[in-house]
Amino acid sequence: MHVMIIPTMGCPANCSYCWSSETTSLVMSQETMDDIIDWLKEFKQEPVTFTFHGGEPLLAGYEFYEHALKRISTELSQLYPAYAIQTNLWKMDDKLASLFKKYNIPIGSSLDGPKELNDTQRGPGYYEKTLNGYEIAKKHGLNVSFISTFTNKSIKQKEEIFEFFKENGLNLKIHPALPSIKSHKSDNFALEPKDYGELLLYLLDQYLDLADTIELKNIDHLCKAVFMKTGFVCTYVDCMDSTFAIGPDGKIYPCYRFVDMPDYEIGHVSQKPTYEELMQTKAEKLLQEYKEFVNEDCKECKHIDYCRGGCPYNALTISDHKVTCVDPHCEAYKMIFDKIDEMMNQGLDFAFEELDQTVEKDFNFTLNIGLENQPKTGKKFTVMDIALK
Ligand code: SF4
Ligand code: SF4
Repeated sequence: MHVMIIPTMGCPANCSYCWSSETTSLVMSQETMDDIIDWLKEFKQEPVTFTFHGGEPLLAGYEFYEHALKRISTELSQLYPAYAIQTNLWKMDDKLASLFKKYNIPIGSSLDGPKELNDTQRGPGYYEKTLNGYEIAKKHGLNVSFISTFTNKSIKQKEEIFEFFKENGLNLKIHPALPSIKSHKSDNFALEPKDYGELLLYLLDQYLDLADTIELKNIDHLCKAVFMKTGFVCTYVDCMDSTFAIGPDGKIYPCYRFVDMPDYEIGHVSQKPTYEELMQTKAEKLLQEYKEFVNEDCKECKHIDYCRGGCPYNALTISDHKVTCVDPHCEAYKMIFDKIDEMMNQGLDFAFEELDQTVEKDFNFTLNIGLENQPKTGKKFTVMDIALK
């Protein structure tokens, strides 16, 4: 299960395409955090990943995290808690960094590329403040990955952006700028599905030479998904069965993207709703309808097991809150899944050809899928090497 804790929707940055933050907002109290813990004690007995998201979650401050992490790790130890945080790092300091190190918390931050490009999209001064926080996190041995949001403007500089992350040895995850249900602020920046698909193909091609020097999380997940026939990030699984978000005031939503939207409120932690009660709410029924829609609409697609129709929020954004279509990035998903699937099958065919020849020569053989058995593509790695990383 994935529990997203949103300590505040406030954020000091002012990124041009952001729809998930406000300049002022309530900050979650320790009492609300305690209510979350008490609620989860009886909710579901399965491993939980807690992700602190926002807004800007570090605005909640050191005391909030010290209290939250101590209580979660001691009182919810039966749920084998794992943690993650998504932050712009502006408020990172030595105290917070050593606390996060103690709980082994991987950090996701946001940086769109070189300073000028980044600050054009995310506002003046952003780059420097984030890099300062990154240095502190690095000094404490924290694992930091950056999300680069590609807009319909920055996509024209994709080579320069990738080069920046490569040169600086920064681990990277990409994210397409998306339209939002909440505001139209991001519409002018949204990345077209075809451009997103081409970007993923470009990155895959680059990564086949560089998988030992940089971590490109999207490509890792996508290759692994095709190989294992199941999704590894929320976009490609039935998130409605396993993801919940808690807003600063303790209200529960199906995902952080719906926080502060009354139509998607499904309960309050202080009332300790059961899983069954949450699933009976209007919003969860709508998401279950989406799951059934995907089963029907995507049934002929060979990628259905590890795509699952993409993100329901993205689909609802363009369909006026009705279940009438899948994630509009379907085109991009097909492009990259088709390519990985094709390359993986070529690799397997090649491995089996080798195997046949070995069997003919003598009956003593082993099957190695990976570096030793790959078609000669001129690339250092195969998609199978990446899937098995
Ligand atoms: S609605 Fe989208 S972003 Fe939210 S959990 Fe589901 S797939 Fe992830
Ligand atoms: S790639 Fe498109 S058609 Fe295939 S499962 Fe995903 S959303 Fe459905």
